[in-house]
Parts: sequence; structure tokens; C-alpha cells
Amino acid sequence: MTKSAFQNAMAQLEKAADILKLDTKSRARLSEPIRVVKVAIPVTMDNGQVKEFSGFRSQYNNARGPFKGGIRYHANVTEDEVKALSFWMTMKCAAVGLPLGGGKGGVIVNPKELSVGELERLSRGYIQKMYQYIGPDKDVPAPDVYTTPQIMGWMLDEYEKLVGHHAPGTITGKPLSLGGSAGRGFSTAQGGVYVLEEALKKLGKKPSATTVAIQGFGNAGSHAARILAELGCKIMAISDSKGAIKSNIPLDIKALEAHKEKTGSVVGFVATEEINNAELLEAEVDVLVPAALENQITESNAASIKAKIVAELANGPTTPEADEILFKHNVLLIPDILTNAGGVTVSYFEQVQNAANYYWTEEEVLTKLEKIMVTAFTAIWKVKEKHQIDMRTAAFVVAVDKVAQAMKDRGWV
Ligand code: GLU
Repeated sequence: MTKSAFQNAMAQLEKAADILKLDTKSRARLSEPIRVVKVAIPVTMDNGQVKEFSGFRSQYNNARGPFKGGIRYHANVTEDEVKALSFWMTMKCAAVGLPLGGGKGGVIVNPKELSVGELERLSRGYIQKMYQYIGPDKDVPAPDVYTTPQIMGWMLDEYEKLVGHHAPGTITGKPLSLGGSAGRGFSTAQGGVYVLEEALKKLGKKPSATTVAIQGFGNAGSHAARILAELGCKIMAISDSKGAIKSNIPLDIKALEAHKEKTGSVVGFVATEEINNAELLEAEVDVLVPAALENQITESNAASIKAKIVAELANGPTTPEADEILFKHNVLLIPDILTNAGGVTVSYFEQVQNAANYYWTEEEVLTKLEKIMVTAFTAIWKVKEKHQIDMRTAAFVVAVDKVAQAMKDRGWV
């Protein structure tokens, strides 16, 4: 039976907590969110009818700082998923040392079915229902799957109208015109590339001799493809929600972006063969980058993964059972809470810039991002070597330890 995302998250917690010999109270505190807010959002649709959408915000843990994490718009959003994602945000922020806690929001909706006007009214509606619970020192939302800087712009505008003053640090991933940070748009992918470069060094492999398959061509996947290609990596296979393709020669990512822009999908790109999702995950490449949704690498396909490195740009793409299989097969898995932490790291930089009302260049942002990512990679690698464990468990050991310390120092446990 497939387990839920939250059950998987708790299995990851247990593994790290055992290594840390974490006390029962801290375990219990880390096994549930501090608060989950559920709201109904009525939206007047273009046809004049009112439709109600369900929205969530899971505020998992704020021992280290305000809750932080994106808002997802997807038809398959559930309370369980949002809880898992908020737990992973808590661990992610701690793993890379940000002074933030973890949260996550979601709305059950297929945003592709909404007009721009409906999308705006839904986004403003979400904030009308949630505004008491968020703020720069409380909980700071950001983009996630199918939410964009434009949506963050509407949300910030609604929040500021309700509270009656400017508060740009309430939401990150904003458009640059509203106090967004340089580099935020591609920071998730860029952070992942920084840690992947470190992993390649460990394995003695040059980017120019590295073949890659990427699952997903959204914000994380498309920027990762572009940045990796610029580094010299050969992108051989890629997918989006409509299908997957593979090629015998490295894909021209710029031309692929233009094709997707024109046709709405990567499928049908010149000189490529259409493959299915399973074939994409099992492609004969050096590096596999899951950059889509949860539960993609499971006990049923983990043994068939050919890549030597799995770099998780998505949140939760690999189940705990699959982790064990990959570890046994000597696949180096760089876990989501490290690989995709570049997004929230630049969100943190965005908040810092908003608080100071003083803005950095893209170069400054990237220099600071690289330092944080490489430092975190090195610290987690050390723990992995010390305990002879997989890199996910090592990342959780580092993160759980930090959150547990903050809870202890606050007198919560
Ligand atoms: N949604 C992104 C993530 O899962 C970014 C979160 C943020 O910037 O707060 O890490």
C-alpha cells in the first residue's frame, strides 16, 4: 500500500531521530504541525457563478524563526500533502542554516482551468482568509507548484490593503517591482546546481562528461536544464506534465524553451523520441533530476534507476523504501531539503533586503547563495561519512538537531 507524503516524512524523521537519540518529547513535537488553517474561498467566476475552493496553510514549526514556505495550486493538494511539505520546509531551512521555521500552503485547484481574472480573485481570496496568520514576523508565503511572482504580487497587494501599510517582507518570490530579489526566479535550480557540482567533484566527474535527465519543465526543471547546459552538461531527456522526450544528442535547451512556449509542451521537439514517465526516470544517464512532484521514485522502480546521482529538485520525489534501495545500489541521492533549498535561501535574502529597504545585485545574491549551499553540502557530507548513512538521513540529522536545540532553548521540550 502506498503511504502518504506525511507518513513518508515521519519515517524520515524517525530515522534521523534514532541516530540523534532524540528524546520522546522532541520527537512528539516534531511529529505534528503547530497549526493547520483550513479555509473555504468563494470566488466569483467569469460566468457570474460563485465557486468555492478549499485552501490550507500548515504552520509546522517556528522554533528557529517565522514559518516559511510556498503556496501550491494543484488539483491533488490535500491536507496531508501540505503538512508533509511544511515539515520538509522546517527541515530545509534548518539544513542550510536559515533563521526560519517551516510552513506550506495549498489550494485545491487546477489553475490552468482558470482565467487570469479568476486566478487573481482566488489569490486575493486566499489572503482575505489567511491574512491574520501571516506577516514578516509570523509566516511568510512564497511561490510553489503553479504559483508565480504575479500571484505573489496580487497576494501582497491584498495583504497590504487589509493591514493598511507596506509590508513587502510578508511574501517572497514577488515581482522585482514590488521588492522581489534579483535571482529569485531561478534560485531553486541554481542552488541545486551548486550542490550537484560539489557532488560531481566528489565522484571525480566533470560537468562536460555528465549526461542528465530532468523530470519536469516548470520553474525548477526548466532553469536547471538551462544552467546545467551552460555548464556543459548534456541534457538527454526531459519531461513536463504532458509527456517526456529523449534524444541521442544533447538537447538544445533554448530551442526547447521556444518549442514549449509555442506548443505548450516539450513533446514533439525536433529530433527527439517520445518516451513515457517511467522510461524518463530509468534513462541511461549519469544524473537524474526529479523536478516535479512527490512519490516518483518508489520501491517499484528504484532498482531500475540507472543514474549514479539523483538530485532532488522537487519536494519529496523519493519514498523511504526507494531511498534504501538506491543506497544499496550505490546511487548518491542528494536530498530535496538540500538540493532545492536555494529557493527559500533567496526568499530569505529577499526578506533581508525588504527589511533593510536596500537591494542587492544578482551577483551579490548568487555569491551569497553559493556560499550557503556549498557550506551546507560539506556539513551534510561530513555527517554522511561519519555515520556511513545516506545523504538524506545525514541532512535530517543536521536539521533535526538544529530544530531540537531551538525548541529546547525555548523551553518547549
Ligand atoms: N516553494 C519553494 C520550496 O519548496 C520555496 C519556498 C520559499 O521560498 O519560501 O522550497
